[in-house]
Amino acid sequence: MASLWIDLRDIKFQLFEVFKIGETLLGKGKYADYDIDTCNMVLDQAAKFAEQEIAPTYPDEVHRKPVEATWKDGKVTTPEAYKRLYKLYCEGGYMATADQPEVGGQGFPAIIGAALANMFLSCNQAFLMYPGLTHGAARLMEDYFQNPLRNILLEKMYTGEWSGTMCLTEPSAGSDVGALKSTAKKNADGTYSIVGTKCFISSGDHDLTPNIIHPVLARIEGDPQGTKGISIFMVPKIRFNEKGELGEPNDVQCGGIESKMGIHGNATCTLNFGTDGKCIGWLMGEERQGMPIMFHMMNEERQGVGMMGASLAGAAYLHALDYAKQRIQGANIIEMAMKVENPKAVPIIQHPDVRRMLLKMKSVSEGIRALCLFCYFCMDNEMNAVLSGNEEQKEYWHGMIEVLTPLVKSYGTEMGMTVCDLAVQTYGGYGFCREYPVEQMMRDQKINMIYEGTNGIQAMDLLGRKLGMKKGLYFMNVIGITQEAIAEAKGIDVLKAEAVIVENALNACAETALAFSKMLRTVPFVPLIGAADYLNCLSDAFVGWLHIRMASEAAKKISDPATGEQDKAFYRGKIESAKFFINRITGLVIPKLENLKKDEQSAMNIPEESFAV
Ligand SMILES: Cc1cc2nc3c(=O)[nH]c(=O)nc-3n(C[C@H](O)[C@H](O)[C@H](O)COP(=O)(O)OP(=O)(O)OC[C@H]3O[C@@H](n4cnc5c(N)ncnc54)[C@H](O)[C@@H]3O)c2cc1C
Repeated sequence: MASLWIDLRDIKFQLFEVFKIGETLLGKGKYADYDIDTCNMVLDQAAKFAEQEIAPTYPDEVHRKPVEATWKDGKVTTPEAYKRLYKLYCEGGYMATADQPEVGGQGFPAIIGAALANMFLSCNQAFLMYPGLTHGAARLMEDYFQNPLRNILLEKMYTGEWSGTMCLTEPSAGSDVGALKSTAKKNADGTYSIVGTKCFISSGDHDLTPNIIHPVLARIEGDPQGTKGISIFMVPKIRFNEKGELGEPNDVQCGGIESKMGIHGNATCTLNFGTDGKCIGWLMGEERQGMPIMFHMMNEERQGVGMMGASLAGAAYLHALDYAKQRIQGANIIEMAMKVENPKAVPIIQHPDVRRMLLKMKSVSEGIRALCLFCYFCMDNEMNAVLSGNEEQKEYWHGMIEVLTPLVKSYGTEMGMTVCDLAVQTYGGYGFCREYPVEQMMRDQKINMIYEGTNGIQAMDLLGRKLGMKKGLYFMNVIGITQEAIAEAKGIDVLKAEAVIVENALNACAETALAFSKMLRTVPFVPLIGAADYLNCLSDAFVGWLHIRMASEAAKKISDPATGEQDKAFYRGKIESAKFFINRITGLVIPKLENLKKDEQSAMNIPEESFAV
């Protein structure tokens, strides 16, 4: 039976047939020792692990209990099933699949690590946030923590023996991190005393590991207000020495966990640092470099959150597809039209409107998966350019990642939500009930649009910073990379029309970017009101290009006589998926952009008191 959680065939198609990592990455440079067979083996094993071990722990509030992390007497308890799973996850080496062997990693390309994350996150995002944040924090320590404690820290974190978090948010400093109030005071021995309260800290406290390492943003006494005055510190829950032996508690106390809409298995904590004046932190990097350093982790996490959006979307689609094949309801429309007497009820997958929902779910979830994987492909290319000392290539791939990161985070999660919504709709009334997992997926998905910089903040980042980077060069490279595949697709009968739609949409996005940059000087509210919609239009066009790439490859394979029947069915699905996405989604970009450029400012003109009287 096909999986309800993971589309391994599509993942492998994207890796090996579309991004062609066997030719572009494996067997050379940093990945000289890796080949397609080894990657296939790892992917197969990971898929089995995800299906057999992670999926059964997915919070199901009717059939399995308990699913919530709980807080009592200052201590957090995770769901029972997570303890065994966390151990298995670490023993499987999944904490560091794509990290350097020098720190205990397996050294696979980032895109392989991302494919594994896609599978794991599809099965239980709340659980994955424990190892996920640990990995992000470990990467940060690897790059920025220069201290005799560093080696043991990396060993403990990359094996998962200790876990990690990221501590930015405070009650009055959410999107505006620069407003934080946590303080740091330098001690005579070079350490810092930390005082402050952080809220909403994912995996902030729990019973999966004996120690938790917190990268904490705080302001050193006397440093300037705003983001420029922020520093970052390594703050352990329990102090430790260079051998990794645990000492006394570090005065980090969990003041409670949030009762949330979704991701119930993950503890979202309020953490009080230095309530008793005994919390010690070790500086990471230089003083007042906290924001650029933390951005390193935030960018990794933003990619990760986009992947969360794509993963939940993938699982929601597969569940809805399975349901639509089984649910018998209503007569076939053609029999109805032909006035057949007593027409038989049919599986709902036969109804045109259900097919519309299914194909939208398929095309969007495959498209956002491709968007996420493409970004990791860019990271691998950037890494190879760094190692070979090719500055030009390094900057090219780096710029690609800069521009695409807000798209991955915002579009990946917003469209991921659309897919979850459609999955619930496909189930009808049953979709709204806890008996089926799609309502949980929809609730879990919502947070992905909020944390790691809300989607509104991502839109501002794209418009205000990313489009204009290097005088627009990075953005123009994003448009430029699409040209070759579009030109090729114009020569493929079945994709000719779609190639033109994508090309026109991308050109219109470039023109609108230029128009917006002028408007920012004359009528700034117009582009600012339109920023989120612009991000979506650019993504609709760029993902259209990714669909062109997938469908072109599928068209080649389908006409190859050596292709078997099952593969032909798969490739046919890819072509229809691309046609649907490009005609029904990318095809709407130009009128939407025209609309965005109108001097229409009602959102700003309406007086506050007129919103509701
Ligand atoms: C379950 C969960 C887990 C989390 N995990 C972590 C974690 O591990 N570590 C951590 O540090 N934080 C974490 N957070 C915090 C999260 O990153 C913040 O909630 C988020 O950044 C938004 O901040 P806020 O909630 O204060 O909302 P606000 O900043 O008050 O924003 C409210 C609304 O106003 C909009 N807005 C705010 N400012 C602007 C602006 N300048 N321009 C346009 N629109 C704006 C926002 O887009 C949003 O729609 C988590 C939150 C939750 C709910």
